[in-house]
Amino acid sequence: MSEPIRYHSTRSTGSTVPISQAIAAGLAPDGGLYVPERLPTLDPAAFDPHGSLADTAATLLAPFFAGDALADELPAICAEAFAFDAPLRALPAHPHTTMLELFHGPTSAFKDFGARFLAACLRRLPRADARPLTILVATSGDTGAAVAAAFHRQPGVRVVILYPDGLVSPRQAHQLGCFGDNVTALRVAGRFDDCQRMVKAALNDTTLQAQHPLSSANSISLGRLLPQMSYYAHAALGWWREHGTALSFIVPTGNLGNALACLWVRELGLPIGEVRLACNANATLPEFFAGADYRPREAVATVANAMDVGAPSNFERLRWTFPDEAQLRQTLRAESVDDDTIRATALNHAREHGEVVCPHTATAFALLDREAAHREHPWAVVATAHPAKFETVLEPLLGHGLAVPTALALMLERSASAEALVAYDAALKQWLREHADACTAVPF
Ligand SMILES: *Cc1c(COP(=O)(O)O)cnc(C)c1O
Repeated sequence: MSEPIRYHSTRSTGSTVPISQAIAAGLAPDGGLYVPERLPTLDPAAFDPHGSLADTAATLLAPFFAGDALADELPAICAEAFAFDAPLRALPAHPHTTMLELFHGPTSAFKDFGARFLAACLRRLPRADARPLTILVATSGDTGAAVAAAFHRQPGVRVVILYPDGLVSPRQAHQLGCFGDNVTALRVAGRFDDCQRMVKAALNDTTLQAQHPLSSANSISLGRLLPQMSYYAHAALGWWREHGTALSFIVPTGNLGNALACLWVRELGLPIGEVRLACNANATLPEFFAGADYRPREAVATVANAMDVGAPSNFERLRWTFPDEAQLRQTLRAESVDDDTIRATALNHAREHGEVVCPHTATAFALLDREAAHREHPWAVVATAHPAKFETVLEPLLGHGLAVPTALALMLERSASAEALVAYDAALKQWLREHADACTAVPF
């Protein structure tokens, strides 16, 4: 057995912490993102060929948790977080192509996996501080609902969600505002990047932290990123056992958390072929991979709103993984898809396959279409959300309503509300100070 893996910031390797501390903190003290000091190597033969997704997750994540306070609890944490499946479905009209469906959780998007894993970890960690922990989450739509669902009514925790007002779908907004109890939704007069910046500024404010214990649940948290590796490993291992080949993935990408998890699985030595990042008109990553300098910018609004990110925060982790820029550019490719093409692809897909995909998933299918001439690899298109969450984009396009999954329908029946906030760092800090008492008053 090798030494337990410790974790340090992307910005300094000097001090290291065990995984439970990295998960509890969210962001590293210097503002960087936690990364493992090394990535372990895993043998495909170590995985139970008949194991469930939760079993694959427990085997995959064991070396990341070895020696930690949470190590013995890992199988139970995985069973809780991976209580629903991530099926890899064949697409009969596309030979060699499959779709990895990540939307069968309670809020119908892949964010459920990471949010539930993080909640299951935090619930088990002893806290020195008797005051409630406030979990801040910036969301472009789906993260907030997944985190709210995962922590709703969990004792000792409250969730504050920031989302860009008017830039999420009406159903997403309803989902964000319908929890109540220990969950507050703040609609910010700005974009997702503003929300993310405000959360980072609050987390980095030591005075505020001293007054008011804060953590984050964005994909900057390792507690969300690491579990996302599980469904890639499970799908790739299943494919490899059956076909003896490495499965390639096209990942709808915004903040780069989901795609980075896929890349890390390949770095662990598991059979993953190519990885493509499917981006919308927010072209920060496509331009970088085409050879330009990395240039974070303001996000523009698109029909695939959960990917409206101009400054993908996990880029720092990608750089850490591949410090050599030339090597990084060879490792993966990223392409941009405009709104018209996303809509046209969604429509074509519905005609060709008789099923509807969400706009983010359609972005990935648009990349698959570009690969059509040289499809020597088996591809899995990653389906990140259920189409019913994006009714305002899809229903006018298709000319009919979409069936709503039961969990979403139940949320839509509840009443919803959100407080308005201006897009300044100081405004969130002020709100947190004013609501510090309200926070302790929340009935647990
Ligand atoms: C969050 C999200 C994405 C983007 O994932 P990242 O990890 O931020 O790259 C894509 N599609 C949907 C539906 C999402 O909710």
